[in-house]
Amino acid sequence: MLTQRELFLKHQAQTSDAPLMLEFEKAEGMYIYDANKKAFMDIISGISVSNLGHRHPKVIQAAKDQMDKYTYLMVYGEYIQSPQVKLANMLAEVLPESLDATFFVNSGSEAVEGALKLAKRYTGKTEMVAFKNAYHGSTHGCLSMIGDEFFRNNFRPLLPGVSHIEYNKEEDLAFINENTAAVLIEAVQAEAGLITPTNDFLKKVRAKCDEVGALIILDEIQTGYGRTGTLFAFEQFDIVPDILCLAKGMGGGFQLGAFISAKHIMDHFKSEPWLGHITTFGGHPVSCAAGVATLETLIENKAELIDTVKAKEQLLKDNLKHPAINEIRSFGLMMAVEFDNYEINKAIIDDCIANGILTDWFLFADNCLRIAPPLIISEEEIVQACTTIKNAINKYCI
Ligand code: PMP
Repeated sequence: MLTQRELFLKHQAQTSDAPLMLEFEKAEGMYIYDANKKAFMDIISGISVSNLGHRHPKVIQAAKDQMDKYTYLMVYGEYIQSPQVKLANMLAEVLPESLDATFFVNSGSEAVEGALKLAKRYTGKTEMVAFKNAYHGSTHGCLSMIGDEFFRNNFRPLLPGVSHIEYNKEEDLAFINENTAAVLIEAVQAEAGLITPTNDFLKKVRAKCDEVGALIILDEIQTGYGRTGTLFAFEQFDIVPDILCLAKGMGGGFQLGAFISAKHIMDHFKSEPWLGHITTFGGHPVSCAAGVATLETLIENKAELIDTVKAKEQLLKDNLKHPAINEIRSFGLMMAVEFDNYEINKAIIDDCIANGILTDWFLFADNCLRIAPPLIISEEEIVQACTTIKNAINKYCI
């Protein structure tokens, strides 16, 4: 009989020749446990998903309660389903007035796809501007927008009319013009290895978009839900996007995404054609119930979960000082620890995992180790994670 590992390799589609192949049985809070009950501290949150930690009791209870009522009923948008209505209403309450209509989907990629279509439909224009080293998802539309030729090239033809400009380069904003339907931008470029906007860059993008009549689609799929020290990162950059894309942390571990805009913009999906965007499972009631519990938990425990983010960021930086680290770039509890090259970084990551700390690298910055822990991480756990990372560095960087 084949083992589970063998069956995984034989029958489950693979995305590389080197999957991590860690086999886990249970997860709770900061930790994931293997079959031998060995605990692994998760310092990447399944990449910015488990912001409340794994299996937060309120989220699990909300999902169970919803499962006792109904699971799936009908394609998004037809029936009035209380978890969806509640979550859309809560989002309208916490977001600026102009972001008052939520379209629920299942993932980040779908949120971006929907946003691109909405921008085209609303503006009547077709060209898009995106950024080098940006990641927005793996579907064809998203792939057209990501700023990396290695991942894009073999899937051509992609969407026409997409320009990729340099993040933080003001001169490049000249590429945004009267033909631009939308500019898709991350609040912080995550997979690029944590590139933060400088010199009011987001405000300058906002001003340019207003000048030419283009929409800003802000991808907060990694930065949303408290990770950067505010509920949404854009609050710190003094801009309001036209369309906001969310996913990852939104469902507290359940699959949920959304694109959010002004009602009068979103209403364009009602005509020419009607049913302009539809999805069978988008806004699944169980995911939305979990989403309500997630947002409630974040808001009710803001002081403990969100307001502590910047101090925890600093504590991580203070505890990670090492001559082999070239640079630490961070924005809240999103951090890239840069080493000389991929080989050193990979050896350190593997050593951390062997010693019970789960981390990884970035898609477009493979020389950087990722730190994006659940927001519940304690000071002791931060010190412990940093000690393990430094021990690994000492083994490979002498
Ligand atoms: N945008 C950003 C910034 C992301 O990090 C990701 C996922 N890593 C996506 C979009 C796509 O999300 P998903 O994998 O849920 O489709």
